Amino acid sequence: METYDVIVIGAGHNGLVCAAYLLKAGYSVLLLEKRSLPGGAATTEELMPEAAPGFQFNRCAIDHEFIHLGPVVEELELNKYGLEYLFCDPVVFCPHPDGKYFLAHRSVEKTCAEIARFSDRDAQKYREFNAYWQRLVNALGPLFNAPPQSLLDIAGNYNLQKAGDLLSVISSSRNILDFVRTMLSAPIDVLDEWFDEEFLKAPLARLASELGAPPSQKGMAVGAMMMTLRHAPGMARPRGGTGALVAALVKLVQAHGGKILCDRSVKQVLLNDYGEAVGIKTSNGEEYGAKCGVISNIDARRLFLQMIEPSAVDRADAQLRDRLNRKIVNNNESLLKIDCALSEAPRFEAWNHRDDYLIGSVIIADSVRQVEIAHAEPSMGNIPDSDPSIYLDVPTVLDPSMAPKGCHTLWIEFFAPYQIAAPRGRVSRARAGRKSANTKWPIALSTN
Ligand SMILES: Cc1cc2nc3c(=O)[nH]c(=O)nc-3n(C[C@H](O)[C@H](O)[C@H](O)COP(=O)(O)OP(=O)(O)OC[C@H]3O[C@@H](n4cnc5c(N)ncnc54)[C@H](O)[C@@H]3O)c2cc1C
Repeated sequence: METYDVIVIGAGHNGLVCAAYLLKAGYSVLLLEKRSLPGGAATTEELMPEAAPGFQFNRCAIDHEFIHLGPVVEELELNKYGLEYLFCDPVVFCPHPDGKYFLAHRSVEKTCAEIARFSDRDAQKYREFNAYWQRLVNALGPLFNAPPQSLLDIAGNYNLQKAGDLLSVISSSRNILDFVRTMLSAPIDVLDEWFDEEFLKAPLARLASELGAPPSQKGMAVGAMMMTLRHAPGMARPRGGTGALVAALVKLVQAHGGKILCDRSVKQVLLNDYGEAVGIKTSNGEEYGAKCGVISNIDARRLFLQMIEPSAVDRADAQLRDRLNRKIVNNNESLLKIDCALSEAPRFEAWNHRDDYLIGSVIIADSVRQVEIAHAEPSMGNIPDSDPSIYLDVPTVLDPSMAPKGCHTLWIEFFAPYQIAAPRGRVSRARAGRKSANTKWPIALSTN
């Protein structure tokens, strides 16, 4: 049996990053990927080769912010493997129905100047708002870059600036009370406390809701930082699309002797008599050995509930299977994604169109209420298709190499239900409230 030090199940970008660090530390690594190409939800593909040849689409991820909070790109020297990040500026455009608009630049000062066209007060408040959340991002950032549960490693990630920001957030009883109150609040409570204008609050609420909760959700105020991240560290896209990040990681992995096998769906983790992972079996019957262990790039539910013998999981942790079975994995809200190939870029004629409106994300959020409904409808099983709040990008404005000359691609995302309710009037009362075996959500069944 072919044997490596470590096997990684799945070659998504996180599996590839993990493999890269292991290879640099001297381990031999094999990645097994179910699809015919690596990258998972971070690929760029010619999704419509017949209808739209030459148009490259980001299948899922497009705007990169969180990766710049950590050291991965620099530590792995991904630029040496062909990765080039293009930073967006402006970062957000949101046209408002009354003719106003929110145009956020990477610079906070330039953003304040745009807001001041319509409200001096909100422009001043935006400066203070952003400074507060920037300190919070700096204070919380080190948590992202430490192994979970390792307080010492987390502490080691604080440099003087970050420690200062943390102290400024928790330094006095008033600050700490403010911090706790803010964290327990809903995004809309926070936005109402700071701002007057709907043209500003609505896009900030929409960006906050990207964390998967409506603006009214208590305890989700942290979503307010989603705009702050676009100022610093900034929002960027790899030249050539998100798949260029994966391509650089693949080159690095291969340059260090790592092996990536595609079209290999892992079916089972092989265990020794002590319950230790010593290899894997694929669905076509191949077996590969792992001397040091098996690492999963796929979710814990599928790993522990489908790929490992139940008695072995129970021996390691008697509660684990029950915890995973009860884990809520969605609130019936999923992302619906639409890709379009365009012969020309969209224009915002009613807002004195400027091409730079299309460089960052375009947010359609007419009001905080519209954003709220964009979440409420999916949670009831309804598709918010009449007037949805949406998030869209035209990546070819920043990177024309992703489409034939003069053409563009359009990436549209909005919230949609995972379990779709039947049309009203066709729902059997007897059955409507029944829960399926696999979901915590009622399945609405038609009787005729
Ligand atoms: C529509 C959409 C838009 C998004 N937009 C953004 C964005 O703009 N910015 C951002 O930062 N994030 C965005 N995200 C989130 C981001 O795409 C994901 O968080 C990220 O790609 C997850 O990477 P991963 O490596 O952890 O997992 P995955 O990419 O899911 O990788 C897991 C890999 O395992 C493989 N696999 C699964 N089962 C098996 C098996 N049995 N055997 C072998 N291989 C297997 C899969 O094929 C996959 O390649 C978006 C997500 C979606 C869905």
